[in-house]
Amino acid sequence: MSILQPDLHFKNVTEINIDLFKEKNIKFIIFDIDNTLAEFNNPDLYDGVKAWLDSVLDAGFKCCLVSNNCRTRVEEFNKNLGFYTISRAAKPFSFMLKRALRKHGYKPENTCVIGDQIFSDIMAANLGGMLSILVDPLSDAYEGKFVEFKRKLEKFVITR
Ligand SMILES: [Mg+2]
Repeated sequence: MSILQPDLHFKNVTEINIDLFKEKNIKFIIFDIDNTLAEFNNPDLYDGVKAWLDSVLDAGFKCCLVSNNCRTRVEEFNKNLGFYTISRAAKPFSFMLKRALRKHGYKPENTCVIGDQIFSDIMAANLGGMLSILVDPLSDAYEGKFVEFKRKLEKFVITR
């Protein structure tokens, strides 16, 4: 079960105190997009996330976006952010996360992955030896049958 266990859990990214990254020796932060930084398929950052993200960048942390969603979605979302992005990332596998690390020259132990899905973001982070941070999904908007199924599994795992 430990591969499904997030290292840390917050309600929303904005509740993460950025000193935590320093304490954990994190230098590189990989974000999921949908329901983590924005509502599902919404091109705009969720309320308060822009200011929080700015403080993260100002503090010198390197950030990137790794999403299972399609390229058009990821590029539209990233238009005003200009991060390195990977779409169709095939999380819970961790090979795309590792590609992002290689691209920027960071090690797993200095990397944290932040996302809303245990069976995608958290599992990929744990498999890749990175710090895993779970946030609650921003909206209940319908994300398709597969995600609905994963969410039911997540509830089962969390209640255990
Ligand atoms: Mg997500």
